[in-house]
Amino acid sequence: VNKPGRTILASTISKIYDEEIRQKVESLRPLRPEGPLLVGFLANSDPAAEMYARWTQKTSEALGIRYELRRFADKDLLEENIIEANNDDGVDGIMIYFPVFGNAQDQYLQQTVCKEKDVEGLNHVYYQNLYHNVRYLDDHETLKSILPCTPLAIVKILEYLKIYNPLLPDGNQMYGKKCVVVNRSEIVGRPLAALLANDGATVYSVDVNNIQKFTRGEGLSAIKHHVEDLGDYSEQLLRDVCRDADIVITGVPSESYKFPTEYIRDGAICINFSSFKNFSEDVKTKASLYVPMTGKVTIAMLLRNMLRLVDNREKIKAM
Ligand code: NAD
Repeated sequence: VNKPGRTILASTISKIYDEEIRQKVESLRPLRPEGPLLVGFLANSDPAAEMYARWTQKTSEALGIRYELRRFADKDLLEENIIEANNDDGVDGIMIYFPVFGNAQDQYLQQTVCKEKDVEGLNHVYYQNLYHNVRYLDDHETLKSILPCTPLAIVKILEYLKIYNPLLPDGNQMYGKKCVVVNRSEIVGRPLAALLANDGATVYSVDVNNIQKFTRGEGLSAIKHHVEDLGDYSEQLLRDVCRDADIVITGVPSESYKFPTEYIRDGAICINFSSFKNFSEDVKTKASLYVPMTGKVTIAMLLRNMLRLVDNREKIKAM
């Protein structure tokens, strides 16, 4: 088969953050002689969560960060143990492996993690800042806000792939780019669409029900994105929005789902963040750059988020 482009692995991209993370861990030695401590809470037997936890541990330890996995057979014990970790000065970061209950209770549980230790960036304050295009936590702009780590990982991947254009003003570096995002979950797809639109892109957000357009309007006149409904989901509408899309990002949690290769325009960038391969092998005949998985970049981002949280906590103490 003719493969005009290249496949880029997440490990290639995550590597570039290793040095930054190691240096930061070093600079925290006076505060954390044994390295900062990240605690993961696992109360399911999902093999994907298990693997993600193992990779997080491996990556953390390789970079001088301590990682502790706390397992619970009884889901009911999770909340009080998270609260305990919130109050424990020895814990720097907390993450939960979802699904736990597999329903709306998971959103409640997620908000139990205090925002000062929320390495995944899922606290409501961080979401609200993202949706409103607010980049700092304070008026003096000294404390940078935290971004949810999977959407952030995709942004960093797009920076690596040189889709973000550094010649454009900060905050407009996706101006002129058209993206399709197949997933509109509150964990990844919707914040990702908002983030890319806030940075100037036109984003077509696709879920099982409908297709929406996220933009900052003509000439990027608005300071944050707005959303327009384009219509119910249909193959025709999906094909239409893909016709001139520069980037196609997929996150469908199903083994059998394959994004139709014939919808991808020649030379588009294709990124899959689902734990299942959402593109067929023949995507390589169309894509210029193809990123088949993103998990390793997500892990790098959550470690980076943790170090930023430690930094923010120290800055607040010194204020
Ligand atoms: P979810 O079930 O909450 O959301 C799935 C989304 O995909 C929904 O918006 C749904 O409407 C949409 N969808 C499903 N089938 C579709 C179809 N046929 N056409 C169009 N849209 C469709 O799942 P989630 O939490 O967003 O996770 C999605 C996937 O991403 C999972 O495989 C998960 O493991 C993975 N994930 C990866 C990372 C990472 O770092 N790489 C992080 C989080 C989640």
